[in-house]
Amino acid sequence: MVTKRPHFVSENNVEMPIDTKKNLDQSSKQIFLMNTDTICLVLAGLFTHLVFFYSIFDIYFTSPLVHGMTPHVSPLKPTANRLVLFSADGLRADKFFGLDENGQSRAPFLRDIIHTHGAWGVSHTRVPTESRPGHVALIAGFYEDVSAVAKGWKENPVEFDSVFNQSRNTWSWGSPDILPMFAKGASGDHVFTEMYTSDEEDFAASHASDLDTWVFDKVKAFFEGAKSDRDLYEKLQKDKIVFFLHLLGIDTNGHSHKPHSEVYLKNIELVDTGIKEMVKLFDDFYDRDGKTTYIMSSDHGMTNWGSHGAGNPHETLTPVVAWGAGIRGPQESSNQDIYPDSYSEGMSSIKLLFSFLIVLYINLKSAEWKLQDIKRTDLNQADIAPLMSSLVGVPYPMNSVGTLPLSFLNSSDFEKAESIFANAQQILEQYQVKMDQKKSTTLSVAFRPFSKLLPSIQKDRIRNIRNLISNGQYQLAITESQTLIELGLEGLNYYHGYDRFFLGLSIVFGFVGWMIYTLTLVVRDHSGLVNVMTKLEKLSQPIWLQEKPIKLVFAIVGLAVIVLLTVVLWMFVALRLTVFQQLFKKMNLTKNIKTVFIAIVPPVLGLEILVMGFFKRELLSVGLIMIAVWPLITAKNLWKDKVTAAGWIVSCLLLSVFPLAPVVGRQINYVYVITSGVFVVLSASYLIFCLKRSHEARKERKFRHQHIFIVNIIQVIVIGLATYNVWTVSSSIARSQGLPFINRLTSYVILVFSMISPFLGGTSVTHRLFTITLALFPPYLLLMAFFGTGNIASINSFEPASVYCFVTKFDPFMMGSLMMLKNVLPFVLVNNCVFHAIHFMRAIQTKALFLIVLIMSDFMALNFFFLVRDYGSWLEIGTSISHYVIVMCMIIFLMVLFVLSHALTTVSVLPRIKHSRE
Ligand SMILES: [Zn+2]
Repeated sequence: MVTKRPHFVSENNVEMPIDTKKNLDQSSKQIFLMNTDTICLVLAGLFTHLVFFYSIFDIYFTSPLVHGMTPHVSPLKPTANRLVLFSADGLRADKFFGLDENGQSRAPFLRDIIHTHGAWGVSHTRVPTESRPGHVALIAGFYEDVSAVAKGWKENPVEFDSVFNQSRNTWSWGSPDILPMFAKGASGDHVFTEMYTSDEEDFAASHASDLDTWVFDKVKAFFEGAKSDRDLYEKLQKDKIVFFLHLLGIDTNGHSHKPHSEVYLKNIELVDTGIKEMVKLFDDFYDRDGKTTYIMSSDHGMTNWGSHGAGNPHETLTPVVAWGAGIRGPQESSNQDIYPDSYSEGMSSIKLLFSFLIVLYINLKSAEWKLQDIKRTDLNQADIAPLMSSLVGVPYPMNSVGTLPLSFLNSSDFEKAESIFANAQQILEQYQVKMDQKKSTTLSVAFRPFSKLLPSIQKDRIRNIRNLISNGQYQLAITESQTLIELGLEGLNYYHGYDRFFLGLSIVFGFVGWMIYTLTLVVRDHSGLVNVMTKLEKLSQPIWLQEKPIKLVFAIVGLAVIVLLTVVLWMFVALRLTVFQQLFKKMNLTKNIKTVFIAIVPPVLGLEILVMGFFKRELLSVGLIMIAVWPLITAKNLWKDKVTAAGWIVSCLLLSVFPLAPVVGRQINYVYVITSGVFVVLSASYLIFCLKRSHEARKERKFRHQHIFIVNIIQVIVIGLATYNVWTVSSSIARSQGLPFINRLTSYVILVFSMISPFLGGTSVTHRLFTITLALFPPYLLLMAFFGTGNIASINSFEPASVYCFVTKFDPFMMGSLMMLKNVLPFVLVNNCVFHAIHFMRAIQTKALFLIVLIMSDFMALNFFFLVRDYGSWLEIGTSISHYVIVMCMIIFLMVLFVLSHALTTVSVLPRIKHSRE
């Protein structure tokens, strides 16, 4: 098969005017009849990459939650009728337990409880230390489902069970960010919420502690109202009820004033006083019947610089204090144990050592807290949910993975054994459902069950525990139940990651298959090393290279293996085996080993540098320096022109300085934008002048294409206008007068003009590239104006300020589209220009270049595929995903741009006018 001739051929390095009638007709035809082969390739590529793109969500970000379990409840009579949960959002352990300069506690009431009638400890939260996952762990007993990544955190990604849902009634007060997710998932109408509006929650609010006062006031009013509301009063007298007070003040103050600030510490005091009042209120209302349990904890801590989300001990260690019905009193501590931490998963040894040192430090601190005489009982955050369930006697939340913290309970060994046994059965329920699910989706021959907890073992263990309890060996029954819980959790993890290896492997094979297939196209069509075979030649091939047997083999494999895409890709690879056969014959590998080495190693090295550049920007400088020396090491005839070579070296070196500069922060700097606008106007005017002169000099009197430069002149004026627009909008916003209508209108007019102006200019390559560059500048200026010297990854740290020239009111769709446009603009520019510039210089076909870039991008994508992670803080998870997403989007854009760049450099709407004038 013969490939199509490129739309213009440059025999030498001199610009070839192609806007003659013949060439123009040919090139405009080209875009519409762009080689069916190429179109098929682009479509197949798009499809393949969309599948690869989606695959990470299927592999890493699936919900661990299962449904359809039978609830389990401890068979004993509960000790409490009601439970009050205080969640002091963003309260870290050391600030709560620590004493002030005068040796006084900031929370005297709770301190007194620890000393006289409660249990205390540190609750170990897990990354991501955010409000939502923290509360899910507290109330539902599991660590937030990472599949929420794909759902944008808005709704519950998967419905889950919680203590609130299992309760008879729950009343909750607090933030609209937290309460609805527990009320929405609850079956029936038994979880009541009272929330302030998100406006009142504004981070800039001067008195964040008002949010806490608001909650306390509402609870007071609620009980006041209950006295006269007969219906409510009766509801409140029932058992199995929960009250939840979400106190957001500390978190808000921590974000805006840092945890060391007086404001943060004062807020702790306010919460302590509030809790004191609440306890009195509850005790009075229930006439001190001793049937109320109180638990105070926090969803996450906070770093010294006022953030949370990651695994720093300041973020993961939160206080827990429990007292009231069913909770043991203070116990003497013989020796304060060291509490190693459990958040080590996925950590390097250095990090582990580091965090151990901090934990040690915090432990030493607990001596500083002057609490070393009273027993400290630590627990995992998710253990609080089963604790609450067992206290009020409701079934354990069905998705809970928490272990009942027995050392908090004030009950007999028999009761403890029964409760933890029920806890073990509840976890085994999930294990059972998960195993059945996997079993049903896997071929029975290939199914590898979790060997430590086969159904028979499970049955034996349960029978054993039952016997131990009936024989009165409670301690042993407790230990056995705890072991069973551990095994169940291990098994849950086993089945959750069950398909990962297989799916991951098939995606890797898919990538490699696609890359090899693309390579065969390059070799076959563009290297000149391989001949296209005739039918007769094809038939004389050995059987393993012939089409029919290959198709047959892959059809059989495809039926046996479910991962179709990978199989199809490899079939195409196999169909092209002849290409390699010919290639190896021609190249005589053993003789040319050095050439092959040079052709493979530096590009791979360069790509690895690019990949690592995502983590260490400085490496990009190294890469640029390596490219800078290119003219010095390649064949002399490539760089005949000394000036060009020098220019190349200098510009690469200049560029290599930028990765070393600090990443630009969020400071808005209009001066840069306006200066760059003015600079572009000046340099563009000069270039138009030069271009026009050379144009006239070369064409003499034959052509007079004045009008194509008129387009450029208008473009320069538009750039000036855009700069002016940015300036007026910025000053208007600085005066907080919003976005004037006339500016918005101008912005949109400029945007539309920029989209069509490339098609108005001439079609000579240099001139067309120039027109495109000018066309892209005004929207880029408008969008950069408020942000944008950042990187393309900033799409995931969405900054609405960057679209202020177009919209100021929150409009996700409009803003999102504009942000996308902003990110695509430099790509269009660079891809398009580089492609055609290289094409022009070296007379290589655009398609060959496109295919090579495609292979290189896929190679990078494969790297990032391995680097995707589903543990750690949201930031770490998000960054790993966005790296993969960026590269995949790049590839998808590349394909679209390949088609688009043809249009941009070949189609002109003015050919007729032009030619009629000749
Ligand atoms: Zn929070």
